Amino acid sequence: MEEIKVTLNSTPKPKPADESCLGFGKSFTDHMFLMDYTVGKGWHDPRIVPYGPLTLDPSCSVFHYGQEVFEGMKAYKGANGSVRLFRPDENFKRLNNSNERMCIPPIDEEFCVHAVKELVRLEQDWIPSSEGTSLYIRPFIIGCEPVLGVHPANNYLFIIILSPSGSYYANGLEPVKIYVEPKYVRTVRGGTGYAKTGGNYAASLKAQQEAKGFAQVLWLDGVEQRYVEEVGSMNVFFVIGDEIVTPALQGSVLPGITRKSCIEILKDWGYRVSERKITIDEVEEAAKNGSLKEMFGTGTAAVVSPVGDLQYKDQMIHISDGIGPITQRLYDEITGIQLGKLPDRFNWVQTVE
Ligand SMILES: *Cc1c(COP(=O)(O)O)cnc(C)c1O
Repeated sequence: MEEIKVTLNSTPKPKPADESCLGFGKSFTDHMFLMDYTVGKGWHDPRIVPYGPLTLDPSCSVFHYGQEVFEGMKAYKGANGSVRLFRPDENFKRLNNSNERMCIPPIDEEFCVHAVKELVRLEQDWIPSSEGTSLYIRPFIIGCEPVLGVHPANNYLFIIILSPSGSYYANGLEPVKIYVEPKYVRTVRGGTGYAKTGGNYAASLKAQQEAKGFAQVLWLDGVEQRYVEEVGSMNVFFVIGDEIVTPALQGSVLPGITRKSCIEILKDWGYRVSERKITIDEVEEAAKNGSLKEMFGTGTAAVVSPVGDLQYKDQMIHISDGIGPITQRLYDEITGIQLGKLPDRFNWVQTVE
């Protein structure tokens, strides 16, 4: 592996004093990782440098045509003080799937995990330790060829930044209200829905802005607007009778690593899990006849988030007042594995030595 050159920050910042005020993605650590791609040369010059602004030509492709991909993962301070990553290999496998869709050259997944570990090791004093907190890791790639023509860039920059993040749940696990979006769509089959790319989020902002008073928007499919896809930055699950349903990955849904982990755990526990199409009408009907027991979202930020109500057109679909037993058990299991409080039965955790 190419050696990562390290330039230390000579003016490190003070660490946040009050971990209860961290919020999400508001402050960054002292260093960042950079690596360049040039056609003919491939990925080169991996380096850790002081965190700070980049100098980019205003004609860079990312500014005009959005050629960009990103990932989101966390480092945790474990029960015994160890620094822990949850399935980081899955993040970089997905990054390469996103790269393929966005015409960005593939990157060495193993080297990326190594780079994350090197950066996190250097910044480990930034990992907060109170309940629910973590060090959020944001790897991303931008096209930066300084040409306005519409084509895949010849130059790219791979960057990793780190941000100490507060607990997603200020008051503990709480059921949220979700707005089922009847007008706008996030993506369509054949589009970029399965890629983690900034444009999907740019396209989603308006719906979220209009859904005032709701935690997030639930997207329906882009063709018939009947089939449930996912929530803002989370995949969704429904407990209907003795079946646990999550929308199948058909190109428009982001393949969440938390989603995948939940499916594996639920199957291990003996539940019947179906990855299939599910219409919003089926959800409404199941709520009416009492067979819809639980609904929850899954994602790196929240881990598992119980859904209490869905607003669909002029109907309020009430699901539950509290946290369902399966939702709670999954939350406890995944956070337990992440923090090293429960055995890592599936070998998902990698420690930063
Ligand atoms: C990242 C993301 C998710 C969740 O994926 P995880 O790997 O579980 O964090 C779900 N939906 C969208 C749109 C996302 O960008």
